[in-house]
Amino acid sequence: MSKRARAEEIFKRLAAAMPAPKGELEHINPYTLLVAVVLSAQATDKGVNRATEPLFKMVKTPEQMIKLGEARLIDHIKTIGLFRMKAKNVIALSRALIEKHGGKVPRDRDALETLPGVGRKTANVVLNIAFGEPTIAVDTHVFRVAQRLGLAKGKTPREIEDHLVKVVPENYRQHAHHWLILHGRYVCVARKPKCYECAVREVCPFKPKTPAPDVTKPAPRRAPEQRAGQRQ
Ligand code: SF4
Repeated sequence: MSKRARAEEIFKRLAAAMPAPKGELEHINPYTLLVAVVLSAQATDKGVNRATEPLFKMVKTPEQMIKLGEARLIDHIKTIGLFRMKAKNVIALSRALIEKHGGKVPRDRDALETLPGVGRKTANVVLNIAFGEPTIAVDTHVFRVAQRLGLAKGKTPREIEDHLVKVVPENYRQHAHHWLILHGRYVCVARKPKCYECAVREVCPFKPKTPAPDVTKPAPRRAPEQRAGQRQ
């Protein structure tokens, strides 16, 4: 099977399994999406959503963020890793949006990438979700899953992105990164991929496949003191 034919089949199957894939970062508008993506570096979407739920009730624009100020922003996001640096970046990017872009998030990769804390991946996510551009953001899940599926090869996210842009059929490009992220988060997980419940296993070259757990085997017995400890 050629790489292209495999890509077509993979995305046909992922699309059938997840017809309306969506990013899991909560947001209200392009600005709150940008802030959420900046906060999500090396953090889970769930953790970011917990912090931004009350924050985005008060702050929906760069002007409101500047008014809130760095110290109070830190209070909202201190459960997220690297919160001090992220708070600085969010305040600085909000200021840059006001000064250079009339308070709006620009629909332009170069302009996005000049904002503090915004790299290529964040720009790709914003262009895709906020503006409907068929960009492919490569995070840790996409990086791993694309290689296991034989869609891309590379040592850097940029190399993987460039391969994917070439191989993903155009009609699947818009949602490609969502399908790969969700597939990586819930099925093709890092340590023990759930090949036994995978929608694309017949066209996936990754070996060895993880066998289905043996449900006929009794659960391992625990020491009596462990069981007693649980009752306390
Ligand atoms: S078959 Fe296994 S390795 Fe291949 S994509 Fe599915 S879960 Fe991942």
